[in-house]
Amino acid sequence: MDDRQFREAMGKFATGVTVVATEVDGNIHGMTANAFMSVSLNPKLVVVSIAEKAQMLEKIKQSGTFSVNILAADQQEVSMIFAGQLKNHQEVVFEHLNGVPVLSNASAQISCEVSAAHVEGDHTLFIGKVTDIRIEDAEPLIYYSGKYRRLAED
Ligand code: FAD
Repeated sequence: MDDRQFREAMGKFATGVTVVATEVDGNIHGMTANAFMSVSLNPKLVVVSIAEKAQMLEKIKQSGTFSVNILAADQQEVSMIFAGQLKNHQEVVFEHLNGVPVLSNASAQISCEVSAAHVEGDHTLFIGKVTDIRIEDAEPLIYYSGKYRRLAED
C-alpha cells in the first residue's frame, strides 16, 4: 500500500468542506479542512485533524479556541483561498461568534474551546467543546476524489 493508494481510497469518502479559523494577537488565520466530525452530543464536542506542517497547529495551541465554518456551495473560492491555492484574492470578511473569528456566509459557524489535543502520526486531533453555533439555510459545498462538487437537484 503506497501513499497515492491511501489518498485515493480516502478521497472516495465524500465530505463537506470547512474553514477552521482562529485568532492570535488580533491576527486571524484560516485553513481549509475536511477532516472534521461531530464527536459527542452531551457534552457537545467536535474534532478537527490538523497536519503537523500546517501553520494552524501552533496558532490553535496558542489561542486555545477555533471555529469550524461549514462552507456553502457558492464558497469554493473561499475554500481555495484557505487551502493556499488562490493567491491574488479579495479580502475575506470575518465576523466573531463568542469571541472567535467566523466566516461570513458559511452554512454553519461553530465556535469552540480546545478541550483536548491528541497527536496521532503526522496530525493533531483537536477536540473542540462547542461554545456557540449560527446556522444559515444554504446548500453545502462537497469534496470528492480531489474535486469540488455540488448536490444534484432532484
Ligand atoms: P497557510 O498555508 O499559510 O494558509 C492557508 C492559506 O490561507 C494561505 O494562502 C493564506 O494566505 C490564507 N489565509 C490565512 N488566513 C487568512 C486571512 N485571515 N485572510 C485571508 N487569507 C488568509 N489540511 C489539514 O491539516 N487538515 C485537513 O483536514 C485538511 N483538509 C483539506 C481539505 C481540502 C478540500 C483541501 C483543498 C485542503 C485540505 N487541507 C487540510 C490542506 C490545508 O488546507 C493546506 O495545507 C493549508 O495551506 C494549510 O494551511 P496553513 O495553516 O499551513 O497556513
